[in-house]
Amino acid sequence: MNSKKTYDYIVVGSGSAGSVIASRISEDASLRVLLLEAGPLDNHLYVKMPAALGFPLKDDRFNWLYHSQPESFLAGRRIYQPRGRVLGGSSSINGMIWVRGNPWDFDNWEAQGASNWSYKHVLPYFKRAETFDQGPNPYRGGRGPMRVSTSSATHPLFKAFLDAGAEAGIPLTADLNGYQQEGVHVTQRSISGGLRWSSSRGYLHSQPKRPNLTVLTGVLVTGVETSNKRVVRVKAKDRSETKVFEVDREVILCAGALNTPKLMMISGIGHAHDLRDAGIAVTHDLPGVGRGLKDHVGVGLRYAVAKDVSLANKLTIPGRAVLGLEWMLFKKGIGSRNFWDVGAFLRTRRGLPAPNIQFEFSPLLGNYEPGSLSVEHGFSHFVSVQRPKSSGRVWVDSADPAVAPKFLVNYLQDRDDLEQLFEGIKLVRRVVQQQAWDEFRGGELKPGPQVASDDDLRKWLPTAASTNFHLACSCRIGQDDMAVVDPEGRVHGMDNLRIADASVMPDIVTANTNATVIMLAEKLSDAILGKRLPPEFQPYYDADDYVVN
Ligand SMILES: Cc1cc2nc3c(=O)[nH]c(=O)nc-3n(C[C@H](O)[C@H](O)[C@H](O)COP(=O)(O)OP(=O)(O)OC[C@H]3O[C@@H](n4cnc5c(N)ncnc54)[C@H](O)[C@@H]3O)c2cc1C
Repeated sequence: MNSKKTYDYIVVGSGSAGSVIASRISEDASLRVLLLEAGPLDNHLYVKMPAALGFPLKDDRFNWLYHSQPESFLAGRRIYQPRGRVLGGSSSINGMIWVRGNPWDFDNWEAQGASNWSYKHVLPYFKRAETFDQGPNPYRGGRGPMRVSTSSATHPLFKAFLDAGAEAGIPLTADLNGYQQEGVHVTQRSISGGLRWSSSRGYLHSQPKRPNLTVLTGVLVTGVETSNKRVVRVKAKDRSETKVFEVDREVILCAGALNTPKLMMISGIGHAHDLRDAGIAVTHDLPGVGRGLKDHVGVGLRYAVAKDVSLANKLTIPGRAVLGLEWMLFKKGIGSRNFWDVGAFLRTRRGLPAPNIQFEFSPLLGNYEPGSLSVEHGFSHFVSVQRPKSSGRVWVDSADPAVAPKFLVNYLQDRDDLEQLFEGIKLVRRVVQQQAWDEFRGGELKPGPQVASDDDLRKWLPTAASTNFHLACSCRIGQDDMAVVDPEGRVHGMDNLRIADASVMPDIVTANTNATVIMLAEKLSDAILGKRLPPEFQPYYDADDYVVN
């Protein structure tokens, strides 16, 4: 059966970005807005309960469960990439760490041709997005849809992490999302009232119902139909039923860094040569589509713990029953939290404009690969490179919308990415030798004492490194030949097609990516409506020649 409906704006994908865009545009009651999401509603316990975060990572009801093509510089391994397929997208399955990009990243975006994306331009949108539990100030928002809470960091292993940082001479920052990102920090999280605060919770469920906003879940968009460089309709499948939605004004693609370029390509928009190779008729030759894909490459260092304090104690089968009950009755206890209360952004070298390494510390050992979800005693530092030079691409080899996008990130292709990761690991090893760790430090489990020399460590990295799940930059903002959208998210050479998700980042940021994606969707929703918040000038920390070594 074929049904036809017309809207002013059609938003494809309800993830971190799409929920923001649909919500903000529909604040104008005169506009008819349609939000289309392939996945189901986000009302399952696994999505709502923060501590259940491991479950959606292996569950195809909420997750596209993608894998890269064999990564040549990671010993030919295919790297697992969970992506949310549910209302709220990846913000409904992510780790809920709330951290903005370093202010320098945005000044760098502007320097790379993304005009009006410098720190002073994005700061008002970061603030507009959030309600910070410590209240508003010149850097922080107090009335936004995303509720941001400060972690408690009371567990003894978190305390050891913070103390060891001080002993190693690493500064402690009071607010990593304020003046100073750099240093050791207590994390902030998109959790409130014991619930995962996804973008769908903040921007859809927590807003008044709007008759002009239609949200359809379980609807897979299969492409956009164009005529004279103008999108006229969106094609979709609702189970076996084909649907067609006519658009009067614009279509905004928010399907994420893999599925947005895929949708462009299967609609005939992309590199003409690649499309012809895939047997797809070219409607608009745009060579940058899918190119420049980036991600944070990283590796976990695992340690045994000498005292019986690891959080894994609370996550045994009986422990889970207790925490589940406590969460269901009161929305409190272990169920209401994630497991990263502390972390650090650091430089391993002099002369860098911003930290190049992130540590994410966890007081247990977790394994979240599909098919294996286990929690063990110990503690771990996940070390990742924040501005990797390696990049890859997304492509399709057929026009079939049911086929997963193909992608390669080329992790560690650039030798300097490997060197930065190597330097980050040396730094973890040094920090874990500080006195604060003496009572807790067991042996190093991974890489382990057998990987001792610098040479061994460099050889080990390609066999062990993986990702922090921050795919971005596959349809980037810019004015050059390989750019896909202009600074207002409009696809170059098309009349009424925009992209507003992680794909458009001109470069990957020094941070987990959710807050930045939400900020950019806030800013692009204003661009769609022809509005702009005035810039806000606030200084930010510049460590000059500071380095931890
Ligand atoms: C496991 C994991 C952990 C992470 N942890 C953190 C963290 O702790 N902190 C942090 O800051 N960042 C984290 N991230 C990254 C962050 O969540 C993402 O960068 C961000 O959510 C991306 O937003 P997006 O809007 O670009 O895409 P998504 O949020 O992925 O949204 C895309 C949406 O489009 C839908 N869609 C795709 N194709 C179609 C189609 N054809 N038809 C209809 N709908 C479609 C998808 O189902 C999805 O809902 C994590 C990511 C993952 C996957």
